[in-house]
Formats: sequence, structure tokens, C-alpha cells
Amino acid sequence: MSEIHVNTDAALRTKALEALLVEKGLVSSEAIDRVVKEFEEDIGPMRGAQVVAKAWVDLDFRKRLLEDGQSAISEFGFMERPDTELVVVENTDEVHNVVVCTLCSCYPWAVLGLPPTWYKSYAYRARVVREPRKVLKEFGLELPESVEVRVWDSNSDLRYMVLPVRPDGTDHLDEASLASLVTRDSMIGVTRL
Ligand code: FE
Repeated sequence: MSEIHVNTDAALRTKALEALLVEKGLVSSEAIDRVVKEFEEDIGPMRGAQVVAKAWVDLDFRKRLLEDGQSAISEFGFMERPDTELVVVENTDEVHNVVVCTLCSCYPWAVLGLPPTWYKSYAYRARVVREPRKVLKEFGLELPESVEVRVWDSNSDLRYMVLPVRPDGTDHLDEASLASLVTRDSMIGVTRL
């Protein structure tokens, strides 16, 4: 994890508060870890997954989502801060998109929840820009040279989310089943479905 994010006042206060609650026996570290994990892996990304599944089945929504992500996700009641723009970038067979914040850890919270630890790491932030194919390979994604890789650098005003390619053999699935296939990492763009 990057120093920038660990050593902020807010992080230190949070750690102190957690230590106090644990010491007083009010809450266990395991319970806190479980809640954080839920927000990182389930609650947050499930919102993005719903958005992706709708975009796969509803072409009008897909068009709106790619033209103005912020306003399209507001149809679900999900909102980034009003002064933040959400841009949804579309993967295809020819183009693969991956998202980073090289400066810190800007992330589309409204649709993906909390960023994973590796997203905030200096190694990811620095390397995915310099050697995206190599980093993606470490995530298990090996892309042919014919696929163009685009790296999107987020900032506090502008966040990105990837719209993954709908997997083959899913024609029979309804929107809810499709949503269950969509992973957090595929919406950051470090994996494909
Ligand atoms: Fe950032």
C-alpha cells in the first residue's frame, strides 16, 4: 500500500479508533475486516455489475452510459459527487481498457465501492502506465499484440470504469444472472470475463 494513503491523518485516526473499539471489547478486528472486505468485494462492485448487465441487455442504456456515465448511473440512484465526472470506457475485441490513478487512488466509488489495496499501491500506479501488458499478464490476462491497450488515468474530477465485453454463451441469461458474472477487477480492467 502506498505511503501517501496510509499516513494521512484520517487513516491514523481511523486506526486509533479501531484500536480503541477493539481494546474496549466493543468490536473485533475480524468484524471490521469483514465489513471492509464486504464493501471492497461485494456491496460496492455489485452496483457496477448491475450497471454493466443493464448495458449488455439494453442498447439505449448502453448508449447513454457511454455518452454520460454520471447521468446514466443516476438512473440507478448511484451518484458520484456532483462535481465528479464518471466516464465509462468500452472494451471490445480490438480494444482493452484499464484504469489507474497515477497520483493517488481516485476510483469510481459510486459504482465500485472501495478500491482494492493493490489499486493504491505505488507499484500498480507506476507500472500499469509504463508496461500495461506486463502488469495485465501478472493479473492473468495475456492480450494478443493485435489488441490495443488503453490506460486511463483518473483524478479527483474524472473517474473511469470499464464496460467489459459480454461473455460468449450468455444469451439465455437474464440481467440479474449476467450481473453475477461481472467482477470488480473486470470493471477496473485488469481482467476480462
Ligand atoms: Fe487519485
